[in-house]
Amino acid sequence: MTRFRAAVFDLDDTLVDTKGALLPDALRRTAAALGVDAARLDPAGKRVEEVVAPLGPLPPALQAAAAAAWYAPDVPPLEPLPGMRELLERLRGRLLLFLVTRGDPARQARKLARCGLAPCFDRVVIRPIGAPGSKADDFRALLAEHGVAPEECAVIGDDPDDELAHAAALGCAAFRVPATGPQEIAARLLGGACA
Ligand SMILES: [Mg+2]
Repeated sequence: MTRFRAAVFDLDDTLVDTKGALLPDALRRTAAALGVDAARLDPAGKRVEEVVAPLGPLPPALQAAAAAAWYAPDVPPLEPLPGMRELLERLRGRLLLFLVTRGDPARQARKLARCGLAPCFDRVVIRPIGAPGSKADDFRALLAEHGVAPEECAVIGDDPDDELAHAAALGCAAFRVPATGPQEIAARLLGGACA
């Protein structure tokens, strides 16, 4: 059985409830900046360009206003999703713990600060939303930097088209939340070492 040495966590909708706790306000804020009803925006969008796409092309000033609203770094205090703080505390000191997230750097950093989980991680990587490349580049760099083989690393996330696909392609184990809960993740990662 593989002994895991590292775990990489996604942030949004893996450790914190972004869709439930932050998305409604972000949509309202962006709609207000544009003077439109929030129902006209695409709630599935990640980049602001995707969120406002249903409105058609926007003049540059409105596009900038939408971006400022969507990526506003003000984030309210956030509770981690159930069991996630306990999971990280259980893994801490036993595995290298990395956080890899993509988004606006200031907003992602604020989310992490607001949920209080930053001290759990050995490394935090925030990939700017507009940067070229993907999380796969960050996974490869972290593994190389710490001398961890892909099969010794697990990736925990919610997006089958992003971090989980990259994990599988690299040969890492992939655990999808919420289908796989924190207790099961701990058991799978710690195996026989589980106290
Ligand atoms: Mg996510």
